[in-house]
Amino acid sequence: MKDIVILGATGSIGVQALDVVGRSDDLSVSGLSADCRWEPLLELAREHSITTVALADPAAAEAARGSGWDGTVLEGEAGVRELIARCEPDAVLNAIVGSAGLGPSIVALTEGIELALANKESLVVGGELVTALAEATGARIVPVDSEHSALHQLIAAEPPGVVDKLVLTASGGPFRGRTDLSGVTREDALAHPTWEMGGKITIDSATLMNKGLELIEAHHLFGVPYDRIDVVVHPQSLIHSLVNLVDGTTMAHLGHPDMRMPIAYALHGPERIDLPIEPLDLAKVGRLTFEEPDLETFPCLRLAREAGQAGGMAPCVLNAANEVAVGAFLAGELPFTGIAAVVESVLEATPAPPATHFADLFDCDAEARRRAAGAATIQASASPVATGNGSSSR
Ligand code: NAD
Ligand code: MG
Repeated sequence: MKDIVILGATGSIGVQALDVVGRSDDLSVSGLSADCRWEPLLELAREHSITTVALADPAAAEAARGSGWDGTVLEGEAGVRELIARCEPDAVLNAIVGSAGLGPSIVALTEGIELALANKESLVVGGELVTALAEATGARIVPVDSEHSALHQLIAAEPPGVVDKLVLTASGGPFRGRTDLSGVTREDALAHPTWEMGGKITIDSATLMNKGLELIEAHHLFGVPYDRIDVVVHPQSLIHSLVNLVDGTTMAHLGHPDMRMPIAYALHGPERIDLPIEPLDLAKVGRLTFEEPDLETFPCLRLAREAGQAGGMAPCVLNAANEVAVGAFLAGELPFTGIAAVVESVLEATPAPPATHFADLFDCDAEARRRAAGAATIQASASPVATGNGSSSR
């Protein structure tokens, strides 16, 4: 029996992870966490007979305690640490969104606990320090992100030195093929063509920042330099990634887009569990198509590659500025094209030397957020925010 704690349990990945656990006799869950939505968290805890939860927001924790639920409610950052310490799980699934996931990743790895990582921001922000910590304590980092799970499965059996290139596939998001994104609305951007996900990653998929973050994630997970990681747009999202080997072989990982597949592999691999996912019928699919990403219309992918290549804390700055800009866009305070503009201006203005300690990353994240908030205000006053549903220009 493998016992896990799920952080970010009320989100898209968290809920799908609980579905996967319910389908396996070999998996159990002893603890859950969420940000402030205490009611759905307690509902999940009741449904899965879990008696210990943590809420990042102290007021939400207070409300949960006062609700008459007879389990233990921990609170704040210390609460997540205590949750992990009390449950002593075999693995922590980190499905928190944003750089808020970094602290909990550090806690799990420091304890030597296997980290099933959906929170790509932990690796984007923490990079070398996170992988060094994992190496020092011997804790494994297992990818949950579908592209990285695919790559992990594809190269697991290969000896060192045979991988020539990693190729990440990208759906292209809802604006693929467009060259003018000045009028797009929040509703347009939230309508992802192939994956159903939380709000922040859905916007990241529309700007292609998600693929940029995944490029940095792949670099750290697999130790492959940036010039040997390519991105190809594949609108059907049926190929989850590819590897080119030195002998000219290309291997691909295929399946319907359903996150329960990579979640199950992260928790259960190399063994497989039965999932109610239709097998791929290629004759029915007919065509798989591919195209180059358009870096002019979607500058976030270029910015992420540049930040990765610049190294130091540039990816931390990129991520913080992006989180603030996406938040402002979702709040209707920044136009869609303002997201890349904010990220670019903050990257240009913020010093990003290498981090020596985790504290450097938290300081850099806070500084980049301050700058991004200022840049977002300037961007918002320079260009109006599009409103309404679907009336955007092409
Ligand atoms: P989501 O918004 O649906 O859920 C986020 C979860 O994190 C919620 O449970 C929320 O309560 C919790 N949370 C938010 N802020 C927190 C904080 N400050 N402290 C503690 N908990 C907090 O997000 P999601 O789509 O499930 O994505 C989660 C992570 O997985 C992201 O890093 C995302 O990039 C990654 N990911 C998601 C998908 C997907 O299909 N949804 C695919 C690949 C990777
Ligand atoms: Mg992905």
